[in-house]
Amino acid sequence: LVVLENVNKHFGALHVLKDIDVTVHRGEVMVVIGPSGSGKSTLCRAINRLEPIDSGSITLDGVALPDEGKALARLRADVGMVFQSFNLFAHKTILENVTLGPIKVKRMKPATAKKRAMELLDRVGVANQAEKLPAQLSGGQQQRVAIARALAMEPKVLLFDEPTSALDPEMVNEVLDTMVGLAKEGMTMVVVTHEMGFARKAADRVIFMADGQIVEEADPETFFTNPQSHRAQDFLGKIL
Ligand code: ATP
Ligand code: MG
Repeated sequence: LVVLENVNKHFGALHVLKDIDVTVHRGEVMVVIGPSGSGKSTLCRAINRLEPIDSGSITLDGVALPDEGKALARLRADVGMVFQSFNLFAHKTILENVTLGPIKVKRMKPATAKKRAMELLDRVGVANQAEKLPAQLSGGQQQRVAIARALAMEPKVLLFDEPTSALDPEMVNEVLDTMVGLAKEGMTMVVVTHEMGFARKAADRVIFMADGQIVEEADPETFFTNPQSHRAQDFLGKIL
């Protein structure tokens, strides 16, 4: 579904993505792990065109990612993204946060958008918060709203960049459970996370990045019990 070929990205002299070749298959959950600064966020942002790449290609459903204009807006609708910091519109209600994209980008009728938004908010367990502002919700609730907002665009793939790392510990599981539910329903997901429990439970494949390269790629069982590279062994030794 998403194919990256020979992708390179520099920030000045810093080579942050080095010849990245990876394919995300339809319905697959690909978990990306690796040390800080290894390029995980940059990889996600490149897939969403939030970050231009220097060379190589990224395609979605066989179509090269557009650089600008309407095609880019459509791509952004197809590639949902959930960030560490929720990024909800602070001055809009929860319901408005979820209906805005479908109404503006997909030209959905407000009544239809509202009905669907309520279904999605219900699904992530925050329908009773619909008329509140983001600041009135807990972090876990806000992040579930962010997931509902992404789903409202009916994306082909959802990218998560450390969706639980800004949350208080007791709220991590409610967000992870929502993500596990999506995975079970067959959503294609790329998840950057330090939550190894989630990776073990929900990942079809684990990608380990270090220094801008994909150092290791394996099913979670193999990766966690028998990492091949020294970098991965070292990393797992520090966090497990
Ligand atoms: P973390 O686990 O800390 O989130 P990461 O794996 O997501 O790390 P990236 O955010 O992708 O890492 O960053 C990769 C490298 O690129 C880092 O060395 C970072 O400092 C650098 N970098 C990221 N964004 C920029 C930018 N906009 N300008 C310059 N350098 C950047
Ligand atoms: Mg990051």
